[in-house]
Amino acid sequence: MTTATNRGTTTVPEPVLNAVASRLDPSRLHRATRIAPYTAFRIGGPADLLYDAATGDDLADAIDSAEAEGVDWFVLGLGANVLVGDGGFRGLVIRNLARHVTWHDDGRCVAESGTVMGDLIREAVARGWSGLEHYVGIPSTVGGAIWQNLHFLSPAPERERTMFIAEVFEACRVRHERGERATVDAGYVGFGYDDTVFHHTRDIVLDVTFQLAAGDRGAMHRILQENLSWRGARHPWLEHHPSAGSIFRKIEGVGAGRLVDQCGLKGHRIGDAQISHIHANIMVNLGQATAVDVRALIAHAQDAVFEKFGHRLQPEIGFIGSFEPG
Ligand SMILES: Cc1cc2nc3c(=O)[nH]c(=O)nc-3n(C[C@H](O)[C@H](O)[C@H](O)COP(=O)(O)OP(=O)(O)OC[C@H]3O[C@@H](n4cnc5c(N)ncnc54)[C@H](O)[C@@H]3O)c2cc1C
Repeated sequence: MTTATNRGTTTVPEPVLNAVASRLDPSRLHRATRIAPYTAFRIGGPADLLYDAATGDDLADAIDSAEAEGVDWFVLGLGANVLVGDGGFRGLVIRNLARHVTWHDDGRCVAESGTVMGDLIREAVARGWSGLEHYVGIPSTVGGAIWQNLHFLSPAPERERTMFIAEVFEACRVRHERGERATVDAGYVGFGYDDTVFHHTRDIVLDVTFQLAAGDRGAMHRILQENLSWRGARHPWLEHHPSAGSIFRKIEGVGAGRLVDQCGLKGHRIGDAQISHIHANIMVNLGQATAVDVRALIAHAQDAVFEKFGHRLQPEIGFIGSFEPG
């Protein structure tokens, strides 16, 4: 769940929206634009204001603009861990397109928080720097990856432990929730499982310094291929079946997906939202799914699992904006 949950639901008077808009570059500002195409689920109504932030500072300044007018805001990465309501977002949604990366000779790289992880991984491997290749195939910006403490299993054949992006993190520059910019370390970020300080504050990551290690390119390419193949066999393909990844939080030793599966719900469908045939903890959009469909399917799975096993499944995705009809 995210600190943005339940924001963007209160109507903002037009003059106030205009005041925010007047502070933003008009060539990158869109009004009443659907958020759906910018999310992995391909679901979500219009944002009053949708702004494309081009740099880390531009991102921070856009938040300042919304804060100055008391308007709700939300920073959208690739939208891979959110469900946006059919009613959209009342206020300012900032798409993070800050993608500048600086490479250093000692394996450090500084990536702006809108950098797409897949692009960064490709570049790191090409330059012979190891540490990011484990996360190939996971849709995420760099900022989202730090927010989440992105994780995946260690390389084949062992796959005996979960690896976390925290392992290659050195520092990040943030906009604190009161507006100051500062560089913070891992102690401040407080990396946990699916958890960091960014889940509990409105701090926003502007750029991240990773410390990578010299690696063998052949070995890294092997990990890329094995991980992509592992994922491809177990997860629905986003291009064909949009989703937000795992819907429910992990239950240690039990597995949320296993419980949903044992209720016989694989393939169960409400509207165009469906529990994936191949992974019971993933819900997919068959084309025209609405946020209302997904919420109903979540509630259905929660009720079925509670009735059969006594576990109350908790969603792990963020619910963003207004869930009133669009
Ligand atoms: C098919 C699929 C497979 C997945 N597999 C995995 C997996 O194997 N491992 C894993 O860990 N996750 C996985 N996920 C979840 C998802 O990829 C991660 O949560 C990812 O980090 C989300 O990044 P994003 O940029 O899309 O963030 P968004 O979904 O856009 O945003 C998520 C939250 O992060 C916040 N946020 C975004 N940018 C910033 C920033 N710069 N500073 C502070 N907060 C920010 C947003 O405000 C929001 O609250 C999967 C998702 C999908 C769809």
